[in-house]
Amino acid sequence: MNAPLIDPFQRAISYLRVSVTDRCDFRCVYCMSENMTFLPKKDLLTLEELDRMCSTFIGLGVEKLRITGGEPLVRRDIMTFFRAMTRHLDSGALKELTLTTNGSQLERFAADLHAAGVRRVNVSLDTLDEGKFAEVTRWGRLPQVLRGIDAAQKAGLRVKINAVALKGFNDSELFELTEWCAARDMDLTWIEVMPMGDLGNEDRLDQYWSLKDLRARLAERYTLVDLAERTGGPARYVRIEETGQKIGFITPLTHNFCESCNRVRLTCTGELYMCLGQEDMADLRAPLRASPQDELLEDAIRRAIGRKPKGHDFDYSRQRADGQMSRHMSHTGG
Ligand code: SAM
Ligand code: SF4
Repeated sequence: MNAPLIDPFQRAISYLRVSVTDRCDFRCVYCMSENMTFLPKKDLLTLEELDRMCSTFIGLGVEKLRITGGEPLVRRDIMTFFRAMTRHLDSGALKELTLTTNGSQLERFAADLHAAGVRRVNVSLDTLDEGKFAEVTRWGRLPQVLRGIDAAQKAGLRVKINAVALKGFNDSELFELTEWCAARDMDLTWIEVMPMGDLGNEDRLDQYWSLKDLRARLAERYTLVDLAERTGGPARYVRIEETGQKIGFITPLTHNFCESCNRVRLTCTGELYMCLGQEDMADLRAPLRASPQDELLEDAIRRAIGRKPKGHDFDYSRQRADGQMSRHMSHTGG
């Protein structure tokens, strides 16, 4: 057995998030511009390379894989990759295989995902209003996503909803979204909007809705019980006593969660980002392509983990987005 991946701050890296494409069938206003230029196909890792990359990480102790993008389910033949990962679930090396999706293709793929061993999916959904949904996703259509969620639940997948908290947009739907999720036995996680990418069409400081405020509003109506649960990521959880559902808060801007960080992110071109909020990355595609054996790749992964920083530095406190990132969420996969 290979030595596990431990970073310089004694954090064990057990969680890999993998972006399998930069493309998407939506154009969410906070994530992409309307005319995105996508990467040339030859720059993307092939499905076989994605398999080798993930399998190497699993060999080094990664126990949880989250597949993301762009929209992971628009990558051609992506089910081949999911099915290939089943062998690691079967061997017990991989404890969980999950994905984050906009839901548009779930109606088609939910049963196959379940058959491949996926048991939970995160579906991003910011509003239950058809008009507003089309406005925020530009190209998305709500009924299609709702059918996808139905299909996922029918296939036996546990669904968690992720919503980006946007002032003047979905703050009016706080209780409606909470109750809709509760009625369908779904947990709901709110994400603070992050200063990622230069989209040129939105002033994200204007849209910023603090989750502290969101939580206070929830507490006016419900009894919130803090949960000790930590996932090694930026989410904190409460349980709503009245509905039993879990509500998550992802607050990368206002909380320091870095001390327990257990994750790294791989882009669809094989760049490994050790921290969501920092530019430093390691190219893993070159060592992967340089040799059919995995030694070079393993060595590059270990060297990269050896430079995982202690934390990041997003900061809205001076009314400008310090630590602003030039890369889009669709690049690192959120
Ligand atoms: N396409 C899939 C989806 O939408 O779920 C997966 C990729 S998407 C980049 C992952 C998550 O990042 C989504 O929940 C999305 O809402 C979130 N996201 C994108 N841009 C964001 C931003 N600027 N701030 C906060 N969250 C963002
Ligand atoms: Fe696509 Fe997800 Fe970005 Fe929306 S948030 S544009 S669905 S990648």
